[in-house]
Amino acid sequence: MMFSGKVLGIQESFLNKWDSDVKYKIAEGKSVLQFNLGQPDFACPEFVKEAIKIVNGKDKNNFYNHTGGTDKLRFLLADLQKKTFGLEYNKEEVIVTNGAKEALFLAFAAILNGNDEVIVVAPHWPTYVEQVKFFGGLPVVVDITNNFGLNIEAIKKAVNENTKAIVINNPNNPVGMIYGREDIGEIVELAEKHNLIIISDEVYNSTVFDGKKHISVADFPGAKERAIVIDGFSKTLSMTGYRLGFAFSSREIIDNMIKVKSNINGNTNSFFQMVVEEVLANHFEDYLRFVDMAKGEYLKRRDFLCESLDGMKMEYKKPEGTFYLFAKIPKGFDMGSREFVESLLEKTGIAVAPGIFFGKSFDNYFRISFGTSMEDIVEGVKRMKKFLEETRH
Ligand code: PMP
Repeated sequence: MMFSGKVLGIQESFLNKWDSDVKYKIAEGKSVLQFNLGQPDFACPEFVKEAIKIVNGKDKNNFYNHTGGTDKLRFLLADLQKKTFGLEYNKEEVIVTNGAKEALFLAFAAILNGNDEVIVVAPHWPTYVEQVKFFGGLPVVVDITNNFGLNIEAIKKAVNENTKAIVINNPNNPVGMIYGREDIGEIVELAEKHNLIIISDEVYNSTVFDGKKHISVADFPGAKERAIVIDGFSKTLSMTGYRLGFAFSSREIIDNMIKVKSNINGNTNSFFQMVVEEVLANHFEDYLRFVDMAKGEYLKRRDFLCESLDGMKMEYKKPEGTFYLFAKIPKGFDMGSREFVESLLEKTGIAVAPGIFFGKSFDNYFRISFGTSMEDIVEGVKRMKKFLEETRH
């Protein structure tokens, strides 16, 4: 056999693959509204463009740099965590990565041995499970409750002597739910009791609505040492393509992630690290304004989408954060989520993501991303209404 058991044991990212399929349709000339991807529609912010110009004129913007990130950026990211969430990290407890996706990969690489079990709360972003499998670990998927809450009892039951870590995603993609202090406290307590590592993906921490506040797992006494907090600027600054992610943890864990990274791709893009240094050091007010503007826009889109879905009598969980909405496949469609989204794409040009991507129990759901423009959302709702009228009996 030419290929490794490791690579044969995983799937290409469902979301990336489905997006390629959708983009082929567009290339063939189909009019498609893309609600399938976590892509904010905002142009690169002006202050980032300004920072790019400044860095362009600097020396050594084309050189190799420290694997874990430039000294200055690691310091500034620790400072950002302090300013935004009151969390204390020093620069040795930060790693700069090629997107949050790489931070997750390095985290699993650093901690997993074959047969280690990792609890993943579902519905979940698909990549967690594939990465765990890649490192020989066993993903143990635990579904949330019917009311879209953390199922602490089920999580407790899933822990055994092989459990190494638990993955939570707060705010959550695809449901848009956020975890309260009590829930996170229970996870931390459980992790302490069984000596587990908590991988807390917090990439949507700046998109929380209705006066609620993001609470990081690192906010709990004792959690900082056993938590790997994953974050990045893909969503926060609408720069998915620039690939700037980062993670916070104990120095020991970060050093081991750096060890792996030094043998994969070395430092994250030096130029863009310098750009983000410039943004955080000299345009912090602009940064905060942008984050606020984006949140305001997502909120308008969420409210419009929720009202429209109510009008169509659709069932869904109102997002408390993120720019995703998880809706139930309307009654009358006797099919799985994959078939539903394919038929929706074919008949209406609306691209969404099937619930099955996010866990076996969610085949009666689909995910709508409202990272797209309001204009697209208005048109999408129109097409959806027509589709339901024509299809429902
Ligand atoms: N975590 C979650 C929950 C995500 O939704 C995404 C992107 N869709 C990522 C991580 C990866 O982000 P990045 O672009 O920083 O790799």
